[in-house]
Amino acid sequence: MMKKLSKVLEVLLHSARCRSRCSDPHCHLMKKLFSHSKACTVRSSGGCRHCKKAWLILIMHARNCKESDCVVPRCRDLKQHAKSLAQKPAVV
Ligand SMILES: [Zn+2]
Ligand SMILES: [Zn+2]
Ligand SMILES: [Zn+2]
Repeated sequence: MMKKLSKVLEVLLHSARCRSRCSDPHCHLMKKLFSHSKACTVRSSGGCRHCKKAWLILIMHARNCKESDCVVPRCRDLKQHAKSLAQKPAVV
């Protein structure tokens, strides 16, 4: 679908803010992907490819995100999650 990671993250940020009817096809795809992942009953844990993709994009965003008040859905949760993982000693 989308080639470059930086482009994907750019589109993610755009689509999170984009509320109007947008003619950008990438924006449209991103919105479709995220509205799917909200409605999906299979989820990435059940093996849904679309949800896995959406999840991956979110994780990559959250890793790079420095925004404390980010518009991207789940971004704050993910950053919180990453923090709590980092604080815990690694248990194998
Ligand atoms: Zn847009
Ligand atoms: Zn799904
Ligand atoms: Zn963010």
